Amino acid sequence: NETAAVKVLPNGAQQQRAGVDDLEKAAVIGAKARAVSGLQSRLFGVDGVRAIERVAGNRRADQFPHRWRLGAEGAVARGLAAVDAQCGDVRFSAARRRVARLRRAAQLPPGKTAQTFDPGRLPPRLRQQLRELAEGRFLETPTNVLAFGLPGTGKTHALCAVGHQLVETGHSVLFVPAYRLAQDLLAAKRDLQLPRALRKLDQFEFLLLDDLGYLPQGADESQVLFTLMAERYERRSLGITSNLVFSQWDKIFQNPMATAAAIDRVVHHAVILEFDVPSYRINQAQQHDPQRSVPNAEPQKVPDAKEVNRQ
Ligand code: ADP
Ligand code: MG
Repeated sequence: NETAAVKVLPNGAQQQRAGVDDLEKAAVIGAKARAVSGLQSRLFGVDGVRAIERVAGNRRADQFPHRWRLGAEGAVARGLAAVDAQCGDVRFSAARRRVARLRRAAQLPPGKTAQTFDPGRLPPRLRQQLRELAEGRFLETPTNVLAFGLPGTGKTHALCAVGHQLVETGHSVLFVPAYRLAQDLLAAKRDLQLPRALRKLDQFEFLLLDDLGYLPQGADESQVLFTLMAERYERRSLGITSNLVFSQWDKIFQNPMATAAAIDRVVHHAVILEFDVPSYRINQAQQHDPQRSVPNAEPQKVPDAKEVNRQ
């Protein structure tokens, strides 16, 4: 590209004789080089072809007669648009299509994004944790994300916001209420399709199980959930929101051995998010009616989660 543009560009005495056509050609090639190099540096970290820009860009064009310059600028603009459209077809639109597909597959609640989430009341550490999670590096060495806290403290909204951000950067995410996943897996098991159902879940880098703990009390449900956790262990990331601290997980898994085994796997590589804040809903209600007293609005500690964080 570089040599081609230099050859086409008129210089010295030739400049006087060169027609607008040649200049346009040079400008288009320069613009292409600029667009392609910009694209490459974004996509592959390759540095641009700056020489071309200097030769075919405005700096040289300044010395050309006005009429030529207009032609050159127009050509640069047209060249850029053409190259953009061309590159768009090949790379950008493929990426855009992929993200659109991931968005549909994720089934994240559409309103629960980072834009609608107010991190203001969260402790700085939690805010920092959420910012880091949104960057997605935790998916590289499969790490689970466990959000604990009382109802209404923003666990679901915060993890969905992270999920949305992951999807926009090309990661595959699935949001599913825990009770529904348990039912689906149970149905699959009855049809002898459990391995297939688990394989399908495997395609998602981040499986977000919402509200673990509100399960119908059934040994079968807890067993399939345990199977899922064992299956994903150290291979794929799991996100969990729960109002139940670990000491209460025997309500989910029902027998102490299964509970201990599940906790052991889930926390082995995990980020623990403690939503030690007052309920957002109660906060909002109080803002509208400050006289209203709300029992138990004070945040409660989540001792088990703290224990794990200290390990
Ligand atoms: P949890 O999952 O902890 O029970 P949710 O995430 O469902 O809580 O939050 C309860 C409601 O309050 C939701 O409507 C949610 O969108 C809203 N909410 C919670 N925390 C925030 C926040 N920090 N900023 C904006 N809305 C919030
Ligand atoms: Mg929730």
